[in-house]
Amino acid sequence: MKKEFAVIGLGRFGGSICRELIAQGMEVLAIDIDEERVNEYSEIATYAVIADTTDEAVLKNLGIRNFEHVIVAIGDNIQASILTTIILKELGVERITVKAQNDYHEKVLRKIGADQVVHPERDMGVRIVTNLVSNNVLDY
Ligand code: ATP
Repeated sequence: MKKEFAVIGLGRFGGSICRELIAQGMEVLAIDIDEERVNEYSEIATYAVIADTTDEAVLKNLGIRNFEHVIVAIGDNIQASILTTIILKELGVERITVKAQNDYHEKVLRKIGADQVVHPERDMGVRIVTNLVSNNVLDY
């Protein structure tokens, strides 16, 4: 059965998550406050909507609590990311993954109940170095 995801914030990270979920056969609701970004994903995502996710009524009307997993990929606007996560939590979303901008942001996200917090740039750096080092070991 297809799993239903919602991706909030269609920057480089959120956009890539959205594309990959679709490539893996999932249903994706793509959300952004920016009309241009939403237009870009209207042909890619299952549904694409322009919305400010810091507005509880908007998220309620989208039926966000019915989605199995919501990914919050709002990076720069930490306040909007935190507020969106609190609302998702209050509405009873089952699983919430959030992109953190820094350690302070991560701490707050964990405190308010985000299930998973990711730092894409940091995590990718660690992965690449792990690969570089293990390849070097094999070279000797
Ligand atoms: P990335 O680091 O992934 O490339 P970015 O720098 O392109 O991201 P960010 O500022 O991190 O962009 O924000 C990601 C997206 O979140 C943007 O497209 C922005 O319009 C969207 N966004 C910001 N605030 C809100 C909000 N309140 N509701 C919905 N979307 C929002």
